Amino acid sequence: MSKNGFTTDVVHADRRMGTEHGAVHQPLHPSSEYAFKDARELAAVFQGKSGFSYARQGTPTTAALEQKVTQMEQGVASVSFASGMAAISAIFFTLLRQGDHLICSKYIFGNTNSVLGTLQQFGVEVSLVDATDVEQVKAAKKSTTRMVFVEAIANPGTQLADLAGIGEWCGDEQLLYVIDNTLSGPYLAPAKQFKAGLVVNSLSKSIGGHGHALGGMVTDTGLFDWESYPHIFDAYRVGNSQAWGMAQIKKKGLRDMGAAMSSDAAHRLAVGAETLPLRMRQICSNALSLAQFLVQQPQVVAVHYPGLASHPQHQRATDYFQGLYGGLLAVELHPSIDVFDFLNRLNVLALSTHLGDNRSLVLPVAHTIYYEMGAKQRALMGIADGLLRISVGIEETQDLLADFKQALAAYPM
Ligand SMILES: *Cc1c(COP(=O)(O)O)cnc(C)c1O
Repeated sequence: MSKNGFTTDVVHADRRMGTEHGAVHQPLHPSSEYAFKDARELAAVFQGKSGFSYARQGTPTTAALEQKVTQMEQGVASVSFASGMAAISAIFFTLLRQGDHLICSKYIFGNTNSVLGTLQQFGVEVSLVDATDVEQVKAAKKSTTRMVFVEAIANPGTQLADLAGIGEWCGDEQLLYVIDNTLSGPYLAPAKQFKAGLVVNSLSKSIGGHGHALGGMVTDTGLFDWESYPHIFDAYRVGNSQAWGMAQIKKKGLRDMGAAMSSDAAHRLAVGAETLPLRMRQICSNALSLAQFLVQQPQVVAVHYPGLASHPQHQRATDYFQGLYGGLLAVELHPSIDVFDFLNRLNVLALSTHLGDNRSLVLPVAHTIYYEMGAKQRALMGIADGLLRISVGIEETQDLLADFKQALAAYPM
């Protein structure tokens, strides 16, 4: 493993691969198909030799990005997908079968929750548990349990699972442990630190960071013993067993779902990835200042942010993430405030979905990302109508504070 720092390795990764003409960026390869002088070579690539055949199974540009994310997550291999959701779906649909049982955190991104519904229709049993408590995860285990899936910091409630405790237990039980690391990301903590077998990152969020490309990545940390996994097809049970899981996720996942990342997206995401630590430090500092300000305002009922001492998993976040707490805030306005009128008063923040962008973004949760599930389900999940999700960007801190100050001033209390 490299002795260099996080950023040093990322910014020099392409050059070290020996790119043509000394290019410091991996060139953008738009070709859909790859041709060979020797027919045997063509066959070899189809039979498992590393190389390129058709861009749905990857290009040199996506491969260069995979190498960077593997490095960032301290893993052994990665495979890229068209979006974070494609990456998550690929894990579920290539590794789970009818009759399997999946344990999942109940604090889960709404779109992932939607996939869980689809999985259940295909005969996979799903238990949703409070993963902030490892005992609840343990209690859900059945003889058919194949996988445990959690988010590092949950979107939008910012709950922090007992990542280390669950990792320890999954190791003892030989269970495949998958962490969606999108919200905190590999700079705050590579998921291998918590003994995850597989890591998912939505690169559309802070790794890309510029809000101009979608992508998802699955990374194998090398910790899971694929020989113990019953659902690896014979075709992928060849060679070093450490590579079996990724072979199946890549081959089957990209082929069956077809959600491949384009070279163009890979290039944009790779450029964004170079500044992840710089952006995260500014984002986390802005988010903490904003949380500390908002929590003191009478117009605000609650602020959910792991950096506040009042957050139920504040100590855990401090232990895990070296004093940084991410860029996502959930803020509940006083019920007397019309959430739409309030949002319309903001000038600096963009009224928009998405996370981890350079720009600060805000949206009313109940009316947007949690609208489809209905009022009853929202009440069960504690999602109030006045709940805002704020994704903090890299702007100057005082501009963000001033924007909220002037909007709150319209509601004297
Ligand atoms: C956004 C997000 C995803 C999905 O990523 P896309 O690239 O938008 O498909 C998955 N998990 C979490 C926690 C997210 O915030």
